[in-house]
Amino acid sequence: MDFSVPQERKLVTAIPGPKSLALQERRLASVSRGAGTLANIYMDHGAGAILVDVDGNRLIDLGCGIGVTTIGHAHPDVAAAAAAQAAKLTHTLFTVTPYENYVRVAEKLAEVTPGDFEKHSILVNSGAEAVENAVKIARRFTGRRVILSLDHAFHGRTNLTMAMTYRPWPERAGMGPFPGDVFSVPTSYPYRDGLSGEEAAARTIDYIETHIGGSEVAAFFAEPIQGDGGIVIPAPGYFAAIRKYCDDNGIVFVADEIQAGMGRTGTWYSIEHHGVVPDLVTTAKGIAGGFPSRP
Ligand SMILES: *Cc1c(COP(=O)(O)O)cnc(C)c1O
Repeated sequence: MDFSVPQERKLVTAIPGPKSLALQERRLASVSRGAGTLANIYMDHGAGAILVDVDGNRLIDLGCGIGVTTIGHAHPDVAAAAAAQAAKLTHTLFTVTPYENYVRVAEKLAEVTPGDFEKHSILVNSGAEAVENAVKIARRFTGRRVILSLDHAFHGRTNLTMAMTYRPWPERAGMGPFPGDVFSVPTSYPYRDGLSGEEAAARTIDYIETHIGGSEVAAFFAEPIQGDGGIVIPAPGYFAAIRKYCDDNGIVFVADEIQAGMGRTGTWYSIEHHGVVPDLVTTAKGIAGGFPSRP
């Protein structure tokens, strides 16, 4: 592929450079401090794996918007499709006046998500909203209220998904009250707990049965590879045992693939490595290359 920017790092000023420093001052005066950033280097454009900052420094993008830019910055096909769509139709409300692209996305998702059965998708505004909708679907389907998520889980920053997110800091600090009927249960963390997948699943199930009761549970949420929790990969066999427990107890198994899905682990969805088919999949980040998925 020909890139409009050479695919190599090149620094031409100090980092951050003078234009970034000037932008940082404007930013501190105008942007809420709630929108924190890791590096105060302001980007101007990108191509492939390289970002070019406002001072002309070329940097290798190892952040990629937490994996959003899975096929690189400004891919010519994506840019052309976005430009064509912008000139054609940018907004209707699907629930009022539908359009083909929504249907095509749903058809494509049915093709690439795990499971050999008829599937249906809903497109919403963000990962957190996808998780919230999975909660609603599981509750309506089961007629139960309890939602389980795993220790070290991250499921989003809305009030409900904060409650499903494990760590107290930074997301939950000073927040709340959180919704009830949401519980964290022990996960498989082989690097720290040394348990096999089956042993860790037995610990999870014992915890659920002791504290909550499987017949109360609407949905079990799991990131097949935990992202913000520290790239934690449960031991082999863990999800197979959890899947069986969910089947035996009428619990909806939800794979939160918002961070690990969309081809980032060698399969379309990371749960495929565990040989397990979820009932619901939430997917976001990598799907849209930074464009909203719901024009
Ligand atoms: C980022 C993330 C979310 C939330 O997605 P947003 O689009 O930021 O709302 C939910 N679950 C996981 C696993 C994530 O990594």
